[in-house]
Amino acid sequence: MRIDIITVLPELIEPFTQESILGRAQKKGLAEIHVHNLRDYTTDKHRRVDDYPFGGAAGMLIQCQPLDACISALKAERNYDEIIFTAPDGEKFDQPMANELSLKENIMIICGHYKGIDYRIREHLITREVSIGDYVLTGGELAAAVMADSIVRVIPGVIGDVESALSDSFQDNLLEPPVYTRPAEYHPVSNPNETWPVPEILLSGHEAKIKEWEYEQALARTKALRPDLLEE
Ligand code: SAH
Repeated sequence: MRIDIITVLPELIEPFTQESILGRAQKKGLAEIHVHNLRDYTTDKHRRVDDYPFGGAAGMLIQCQPLDACISALKAERNYDEIIFTAPDGEKFDQPMANELSLKENIMIICGHYKGIDYRIREHLITREVSIGDYVLTGGELAAAVMADSIVRVIPGVIGDVESALSDSFQDNLLEPPVYTRPAEYHPVSNPNETWPVPEILLSGHEAKIKEWEYEQALARTKALRPDLLEE
């Protein structure tokens, strides 16, 4: 799949898309992420993309012209399944939405900045508005990064062990069970006489019993920490 991200701060988001899982997915040819500088599309000779809001409200707004020009240029090259605007008042981003978007071929993500963008772009060109939570960020870049990361990691083949992405918290409305790595007995720095053991069952080699234990733990953690997930 292909994700196009439009921003006034490409330098903030580009390095993120080159590292770790996102970087590897692209090297494997499973995903393409392209970051576009909105200023490349303005007709303003000083490369300005913002202006004062009508009606005297505080702050600055990104203007229609550069956004329209950039979105139109991209749409002329391919069909987009979704043109997403990152917005605190949008639909709340979650795992089912990440899974759904990972099945698309081309999506565009527009990052707002300053006080936001001219509302006419939202009315006429945006197909979906997405929030990553009930708080206000300075720009949509972090939201776009969050979305791209969680979308790309569920594309089959991106994570080596397919099961690993599917067994993460939220995938089955259950939180992850506790997980441990070596050593089986750890002695903390603050008190080397103390031992922090790994639950014995995990060392038993009994696969069916381990699965059962993991499921019980996942259920108990979900009941305690996120009972709302079980009601869904
Ligand atoms: N005036 C706007 C907030 C602007 S914040 C309002 O009251 O709704 C600047 C930009 O950051 C927004 O246009 C949006 O693109 C991005 N942004 C801020 N918070 C966000 C969130 N929780 N989720 C997604 N994008 C967000």
